[in-house]
Amino acid sequence: MADHEKDEDAFAGEWDIPSHEHSSLSSLLFLLARHSSPVAEAYRGRLHRIPELRWEETKTLALIEKALLHVRAESTAKHNDERYATMTEPVRCKGGMYVDIASVSPVTGRADPCLPRLLLRADVDGLPVEEPAGNPGRSTHPRKMHACGHDMHAAMLLTFVRVVMMWLPEKVIELLPEDAPPPFPTALPVNLRCVFQRAEENPVTPSGGYVLVNEDGVLEGVDEVYGLHVWAGLPAGHFYSNPSALMANSDRLRVRISCCGGHASAPHGTRNPIDVAADVVAGLRGFDARTLGPMEPSALVPTISSSGSASNVIPERAELWFGVRNFLPRGRREEWNGQLCQQVTELARPSPSGSPAATSIEATVIKGHPATINNASRVAAVCAALAEFVPHFESAPLLGPEMAAREKERGLKIDGNARPVLGGEDFSHYLNARPGAFFFLGAHTPGGGDHHAPSFDPDASVLWRGVMFWLAVAYGVVDDLEGAGGGGEKGGGGKRAKR
Ligand SMILES: [Zn+2]
Repeated sequence: MADHEKDEDAFAGEWDIPSHEHSSLSSLLFLLARHSSPVAEAYRGRLHRIPELRWEETKTLALIEKALLHVRAESTAKHNDERYATMTEPVRCKGGMYVDIASVSPVTGRADPCLPRLLLRADVDGLPVEEPAGNPGRSTHPRKMHACGHDMHAAMLLTFVRVVMMWLPEKVIELLPEDAPPPFPTALPVNLRCVFQRAEENPVTPSGGYVLVNEDGVLEGVDEVYGLHVWAGLPAGHFYSNPSALMANSDRLRVRISCCGGHASAPHGTRNPIDVAADVVAGLRGFDARTLGPMEPSALVPTISSSGSASNVIPERAELWFGVRNFLPRGRREEWNGQLCQQVTELARPSPSGSPAATSIEATVIKGHPATINNASRVAAVCAALAEFVPHFESAPLLGPEMAAREKERGLKIDGNARPVLGGEDFSHYLNARPGAFFFLGAHTPGGGDHHAPSFDPDASVLWRGVMFWLAVAYGVVDDLEGAGGGGEKGGGGKRAKR
């Protein structure tokens, strides 16, 4: 039995839900998401074992492509008669891969190209980190690990595609009482482009997101963009975003210092580049607060220092790198980076009483991802769509006995005014071009490490909530946009009612 067929079994279990519980759209979507947990975990487990570095995601994309092709084939075979969405074959491009899902009108039986198209994005690359030996289901690729949770991102979006294309048509028909009043989720209110993106972890050269947006034309015909990132530092299972900047400009400062070198016994005969480097590090401490003011969030942190090879030699060269993080708008960002380089040059200038030897210094800021700036109305729309699910967490029968206690205790919190973080994210390239929203899904595990650390250990029990997030975006956001609430339940009026 192939792996993807095993996933099918996860869906075969009993759905012990009282009939009145699934008469609304949100309770059906909640139910589908909740039941997708084993599938999402299976996808995640398989992806976790084969992490690949940026621009090397061959096996990862092959696995995702195979799963998508399977979903496409199954949904065509099983649901051809009552199809409410069609899906393209996966389209490969330089920055990754995507499928388009088109809503099919139950009235005309045809796709509606006039519906808004939302882009949903998951990144898929791993990191050059060695996963600890004892981890269950650990990476089989030496010195490579999914240490940022991108395996979870891919698994959640893949599971969402399966739920939309296969489970929804099947379960809607099976579960809804025959005399249930409309609205039914028989048609998607939007068209979708689901993107599996390479090379997010690529702060220096153009990243996968940059390439998809600027070279592959992935935003052609797209109206809005949405992204989700698991976040180990936030309470598991809850959603966080911000109406404006959520993540920072992530630039790098490189400082190269060259002197003439010399004998360790003759420091008076040369200028020591390690001394110069130390002056630069000390001189830049607090430079951001001094120039930007203490109210401007910023981090200017030395990250790499290299020089020297023998204890009796004054080296010729030293190199320093700094992480440069802030939320400065485009023009101001460039201006301040120039100021920073200028300051480095001044710090390296020999004092009049210093050594006579010449020193050359080169300071360069290498631009990384721009700040990730959300659209306030899209964040509010996602929060409102997610809020529809809150009451269902109180409803134990929907959850089944096994996970009911934990999920009920966790409940669902949605914070649309969360504090921004100084991490960088290349979803910014999408948000620079289209309105949309980027969210965090809390995945804290007690004792688990931070992102990019070998001890990174996000809580995998939140995966189904990621599927729920994508369902909320697909079914809840557009109706909010149109302000069409007819039919009662959110997501039930608007487009579908008119078709
Ligand atoms: Zn990440």
